[in-house]
Amino acid sequence: MIRLQEVTMRYRGGAEALSEVSLSVDPGEFTYLTGPSGAGKTTLIKLLAAIERPTRGQVFVLGRNVGRLKRRAVCSHRRRIGIVYQNNLLLEDRSAYDNVALPLHISGLGPREVRRRTEAALDSVGLLKSARRFPRLLSQGEQQRLGIARAVVNRPELLVADEPTGNLDPELSREVMKLFRRLVGYGVTALVATHDVGLIESLPARRISLLKGRVDSGTSPS
Ligand code: ADP
Repeated sequence: MIRLQEVTMRYRGGAEALSEVSLSVDPGEFTYLTGPSGAGKTTLIKLLAAIERPTRGQVFVLGRNVGRLKRRAVCSHRRRIGIVYQNNLLLEDRSAYDNVALPLHISGLGPREVRRRTEAALDSVGLLKSARRFPRLLSQGEQQRLGIARAVVNRPELLVADEPTGNLDPELSREVMKLFRRLVGYGVTALVATHDVGLIESLPARRISLLKGRVDSGTSPS
């Protein structure tokens, strides 16, 4: 599902954000990507989403070498993965329903299918009753769940999340992580970046740890 082979990433004018990182994630796995701030977690997620390209090495996602995708293929690649951001980037002038439905409209689905899938995604995060509300009228935890509904509405095979609980208190953080695990139960593969060690200790799963741009061998990822 994900395979990195000796990936090095150096931003223009910067130091190496990732150095010779090799790792793999199998289909159906739920994996945490951990490490302190600056370890390279966001950079790794950007490589998976083809937002950045590796300086050296190869990044395979869903069988494709994403560092080599042509521009048009990048768009179709991003539609196959769901991305959840810390500041979930919701559209404030659209309802919860419209925020979630937007990726489906972009994919060109018909209105009946859009409605069916949007309602199912909202239901899966417990927000069907709030469909007509605007994001600012939702709590932070609800907004984050809405961001997750939007990421999964296109039924991606892979879900990647960058510090999805960064703004949430411990109880809501657990709720959001449990939601990811439930989605994995439905067949999605998920890689969730978090620096919150306390949170993942209470919800154990496979863990890949980065330290200064390298896989921390102490955690021995497969
Ligand atoms: P994390 O998500 O674990 O906090 P990042 O991937 O954001 O780590 O950052 C890894 C390293 O890359 C840091 O040293 C950071 O300063 C650097 N970095 C991140 N983004 C850029 C950028 N756009 N330009 C230059 N350096 C960057």
